[in-house]
Amino acid sequence: MDKQRDFVLRTIEERGVKFVRLWFTDVLGTLKSVAIAPAEVEGAFTEGLGIDGSSIEGLSRSSEADVIAKADPSTFQILPWRGEVDPTARMFCDISTPDGQPAAADPRHVLKRTLAKAADRGFSFYTHPECEFYLLKSADVANPQPVDRAGYFDNVPGGTAHDFRRASVRMLEDIGISVEFSHHEAGPGQNEIDLRYADALSTADNIMTFRTVVKEVAQSEGVYATFMPKPFEGQPGSGMHTHLSLFEGERNAFYDASGQYRLSKIGRQFMAGLLHHAPEFTAVTNQYVNSYKRMWSGDEAPSYVSWGHNNRSALVRVPLSKPNKAQSARIEYRGLDSAANPYLAFSVLLAAGLKGIEEGYDLPDEAVDDIWQLTDKERRALGFTPLPASLDRAIGAMEESELVAETLGEQVFSYFLRNKREDWTRYRAQVTRVELESNLLTL
Ligand code: GLU
Ligand code: MG
Ligand code: MG
Repeated sequence: MDKQRDFVLRTIEERGVKFVRLWFTDVLGTLKSVAIAPAEVEGAFTEGLGIDGSSIEGLSRSSEADVIAKADPSTFQILPWRGEVDPTARMFCDISTPDGQPAAADPRHVLKRTLAKAADRGFSFYTHPECEFYLLKSADVANPQPVDRAGYFDNVPGGTAHDFRRASVRMLEDIGISVEFSHHEAGPGQNEIDLRYADALSTADNIMTFRTVVKEVAQSEGVYATFMPKPFEGQPGSGMHTHLSLFEGERNAFYDASGQYRLSKIGRQFMAGLLHHAPEFTAVTNQYVNSYKRMWSGDEAPSYVSWGHNNRSALVRVPLSKPNKAQSARIEYRGLDSAANPYLAFSVLLAAGLKGIEEGYDLPDEAVDDIWQLTDKERRALGFTPLPASLDRAIGAMEESELVAETLGEQVFSYFLRNKREDWTRYRAQVTRVELESNLLTL
């Protein structure tokens, strides 16, 4: 720890860093930042920096408004988009109360606490997200226009998306985030960048950084990036499929050479936990009214609780791991969307999977058909229950969930539900274009 602090202080000195930004996240997953001078950094490690938490969504109740942000030296990076002259660096923070307890509403703490529970059982949790997003010509909310008309894996030489991906991948590498894959996605102007496998806390931090980098690079190229789950009617939504695995020491606990798809019993139970609890935690993995427009429009977003191997209609997919690559055994959760708070979303996924192991849940039968093509009756007969069809239903399922309440902790749980109910109430109060078009002149 002290070595890391020394390294940070030395780097600030050697590189002439002029500002250090302290980053943290509110309950909804919005990145917050406060800049300090280099002389304050040592204090940010020891005493922490006092901030008024009441101004930050969900962070503290007004009666305990002051919170302390303590910088995590292992996350120190110079921000490449701020330029070489008078560089700016950033560190993620842990938030605590004035008496030194972790702040209940700090999403990073919620994930750390869930990871510690996994560690008590000998597991560490790894994730690998596939982040999808749209590039828009401008920030015109009334008439959003994608930057191109290209489609899945299209190569558009000299196109905006192509230049954009090259610039963002370079910037991500500069800030220490390895990219595994990047390509044009199926929608016009839609792109995907996949971050390399890492422990879940690093991946969650990386997703926060990734979203900032993507927005910064887009702006520098004169375009606008959005992680909204379903910006265009009739075009695919932006998911954040996440590959998950548990390790016991150096060994991938999901791998078994003799298991179906080389997935171990632990892997099957973890997956059974995800399926069993998915309706309860969907409000967390898909937290906006708009999230449900992605999930219920087909376009390769999952709508039913199900698993499969090469089945893109399933909620969870088991990619076949190669026999000589035990380390790569994993499952892919396809429900998550690109606007989720990664700390909270990874927490509920992990908690559900661990519950599956603890209770020894049985895995339902594999889905072999295209689930969207089946009739409701066939789906019912095969046991494919629907995911919540709206934010309202997702909130209802979450309210009843002991697992989600316990994982998020009382404060985040109640804040989150309150905030989401407000979203829903506001949405419900609208009279929409569809209603006007179909009813105004005919009724
Ligand atoms: N865009 C799709 C979704 O909303 C995913 C497409 C894919 O398979 O990568 O989940
Ligand atoms: Mg994709
Ligand atoms: Mg995928």
